[in-house]
Amino acid sequence: MITKSKITAELENILPKKNILSAVEECYVYSQDGTNDIKSDIIPDVVVFPESIEEVQSIMRFANEHKISVVARGAGTNLVGACITSRGGIVINFTKMDNILEINKTNMTARVQAGVVVGKLQEKVSEMGLFFPPDPSNLKVSTIGGAIAQSAGGPKTFKYGTTKDYVLGLKVVLADGTLMETGTNTIKNATGYHLEQLFIGSEGTLGIVVEATLKLIPKPETTQVVMAYFNSVEDATNSVTSMIDKNIYPSTIDFMNKNTLQTVEKFYPCGLLTNREAALIIEVDGFKISMETQIMRLETVLRLSGATDIIIANTSDEQERIWTGRRASFGATAKLRPDVVTNDMIVPRENISKLVSGINKICEKYSLIVSIVGHIGDGNIHPQIALDLNNDTEVKNYEHAKKEFYELTLQLGGTLSAEHGIGLEKKEYFTRAVDTVALEYMKKIKKMFDPNNILNPDKIFDVG
Ligand SMILES: Cc1cc2nc3c(=O)[nH]c(=O)nc-3n(C[C@H](O)[C@H](O)[C@H](O)COP(=O)(O)OP(=O)(O)OC[C@H]3O[C@@H](n4cnc5c(N)ncnc54)[C@H](O)[C@@H]3O)c2cc1C
Repeated sequence: MITKSKITAELENILPKKNILSAVEECYVYSQDGTNDIKSDIIPDVVVFPESIEEVQSIMRFANEHKISVVARGAGTNLVGACITSRGGIVINFTKMDNILEINKTNMTARVQAGVVVGKLQEKVSEMGLFFPPDPSNLKVSTIGGAIAQSAGGPKTFKYGTTKDYVLGLKVVLADGTLMETGTNTIKNATGYHLEQLFIGSEGTLGIVVEATLKLIPKPETTQVVMAYFNSVEDATNSVTSMIDKNIYPSTIDFMNKNTLQTVEKFYPCGLLTNREAALIIEVDGFKISMETQIMRLETVLRLSGATDIIIANTSDEQERIWTGRRASFGATAKLRPDVVTNDMIVPRENISKLVSGINKICEKYSLIVSIVGHIGDGNIHPQIALDLNNDTEVKNYEHAKKEFYELTLQLGGTLSAEHGIGLEKKEYFTRAVDTVALEYMKKIKKMFDPNNILNPDKIFDVG
């Protein structure tokens, strides 16, 4: 087996020394990610910061030759242990490949390096009257490479879809260092297999994305935010169906349950009504001229669906105040116990109230404190659980609860992850959620792309 010092020495032939970290205390930082309940004591041998595609190719050629595992890393904010270095090896960090290479207004496309921060791209295209809708809540730090690898979504999925809907083409460095270009820079493409889609949600297990061509859309002229409270989760869910019936098409329909309202208000008071069972945050966008009609129709639908209180944000400050309450939910829940973990599951929208009440019952059974938020328009729920990860009983209880969450989700016709991915966190349950023939073909694809199993090994499923 090749030693750490030999790996470092070889990499120094590929990259300038300033772009290599090998001290244990430096590498330790890159062995973990945003996942609170999985920690690894296996530290990468080396962390590298390439600045060009050619450098990434040389790193992969070297790693493949010596069968060294390689974990690509963006901001390391995923929540499923997807870039935990379970076998040491090399971490390729993309923070130095963060250039927006081109924004083409006529074609409505952007060509970007993998390390571009999602929020930075949104800002730049917005200045040109364009819009890149995928917006994981931590868009100020998470990268395009990470968003592609995790198939990230966010609040705007209901109307605009997720990252996968905006990837037109990719440049990918394969396990043996070969550069593959897949897809196009055109809005439509029916020219053979869509290999670029294979890399979306593949969590760095099939190839290293170095560049992406992304679809953009025109920026909506204006946005308005409405908050509605309900006395039951069912009423809140049914209001979404009524909106669709009335051709109202919000960009966002987000959800907070009673515990969340109470927890946020306790720690970050912002005027939430804490005695309601559910609240929806609804964002509509479009032409200014259409806004009054959209809001009027929305208000009627909400009232007929049983909304007890409707707050229409008329200024950007009021909009921000509503969103601050929603965004504070994770931090507020974290204040209830020493730690907080979040989960991500999705069911067909018709089953969302069953999922919410099931999660509450499961948490009650295991004495877990939960606040539930989610993108209810998509059927996507995030239970946020406050616990002490140093308390074995609480950890065990969470493990039992998690298993029951997933069983319930599958029973309700849903699936394990909507936008966070599988990583190490959900691997144990993955085989129950996918068809056996599909799994067999996933394994064949993995073996074909990465015969030595060096690309982010141990994630999603075991190769066998
Ligand atoms: C506070 C918070 C809020 C969040 N909110 C949302 C949300 O609303 N919606 C949502 O979808 N997610 C959300 N997430 C999860 C997270 O934002 C996404 O998973 C994100 O897209 C990860 O980006 P990253 O750059 O941090 O990737 P990382 O965590 O660095 O990596 C994620 C995965 O991508 C792989 N990878 C990274 N770069 C490359 C590359 N260039 N080529 C190949 N593989 C690569 C890694 O190996 C790993 O498997 C949230 C996370 C946090 C901490």
